Amino acid sequence: MGTMQILIVDDSRSIRKLVAECVANLGYTAIHAETGEEALEYVKHHPIDLILMDVEMPGMNGFSTTKAIRDFKKDDWFPIIFLTTQTDDQSYEKCILAGGDAFLTKPINQLHLGLQITAMERIYLMRRKLQATQNELLKLNDTLRYLSLYDQLTGLANRRYFDDSLKREFLLAQREKAPLSLIIGDIDDFKLYNDTYGHLAGDDCLSSVATVIASASKRPTDLACRYGGEEFTVILPKTDLNEARNIAEKIRDGLHHRQIPHKSSRVHDYVSISLGASTYQGQFKNCMELTNAADRALYLAKANGRNRVEAYLSNVSS
Ligand code: GH3
Ligand code: MG
Ligand code: MG
Ligand code: MG
Repeated sequence: MGTMQILIVDDSRSIRKLVAECVANLGYTAIHAETGEEALEYVKHHPIDLILMDVEMPGMNGFSTTKAIRDFKKDDWFPIIFLTTQTDDQSYEKCILAGGDAFLTKPINQLHLGLQITAMERIYLMRRKLQATQNELLKLNDTLRYLSLYDQLTGLANRRYFDDSLKREFLLAQREKAPLSLIIGDIDDFKLYNDTYGHLAGDDCLSSVATVIASASKRPTDLACRYGGEEFTVILPKTDLNEARNIAEKIRDGLHHRQIPHKSSRVHDYVSISLGASTYQGQFKNCMELTNAADRALYLAKANGRNRVEAYLSNVSS
């Protein structure tokens, strides 16, 4: 669990030594600061779990040092115990209002100081647990986010991510009067691949195809997705039909060069893919129409012999 980091702030060397002895009796090694300024500087750059703070110091006194530390560590809390010669109610109030948690009077009663540190140790342990839980939650959150947006088998964006992105990109393209292209690809004779090599080999094949698809487009705004089963899409913002066709061709060619054997394919000796591309240039009312056009192009690619790319533009208004 690590050890409690304790900082002693006092301008008097002998008091620091005395307090350090108390701390050492509890099994901790303390860090020393001679001034408020030095303490603040230390806290800014190092983790800290407990501070034993003198009130009366030249320069920044204990109250203003504590205020400055609390101000700097807004989202964090660790105990600060004041050590002071002032025993009146007003000083006690000042201590609490400045951000202190406890108050011990000088001359220091070593037993009391030890007990105070022991009490604060409980807060320290609870704080540690809280931090660990929070870190776990943050990690879990990242995992959940990943699971909700990415396909587990291929690592590509999943259908939900695709749907959201296409909607957003379509609105952007409308507003900016920029082209938006969509490619839909479907592996040829994939049912026969599964029948021949088994479903697990089919899964491996899908991963390989996904790698080819992901590496075909280069811009950070491009998004390769697993649309469903053995169907993939690529969203290509600010990309015209010619460029989209080239990227689709690059996918088809890239997969061909992988030479994944597919002996029962009616198309080829290797696994192949058919792709359809379409581009929004102001002619579609919504992203569904763009999807339908790309789907139509894919249908043509299948009908025209598979292992090929077709591009389809309908109702271009300009
Ligand atoms: P076509 O060339 O017309 O596309 O023929 P096809 O056999 O590829 O088309 P079809 O849509 O009939 O078959 C798709 C197959 O993809 C059927 C299904 O078993 C397989 N498939 C879908 N999802 C997965 C998956 O996650 N893993 C594996 N191994 N196979 C899948
Ligand atoms: Mg002092
Ligand atoms: Mg299919
Ligand atoms: Mg298929």
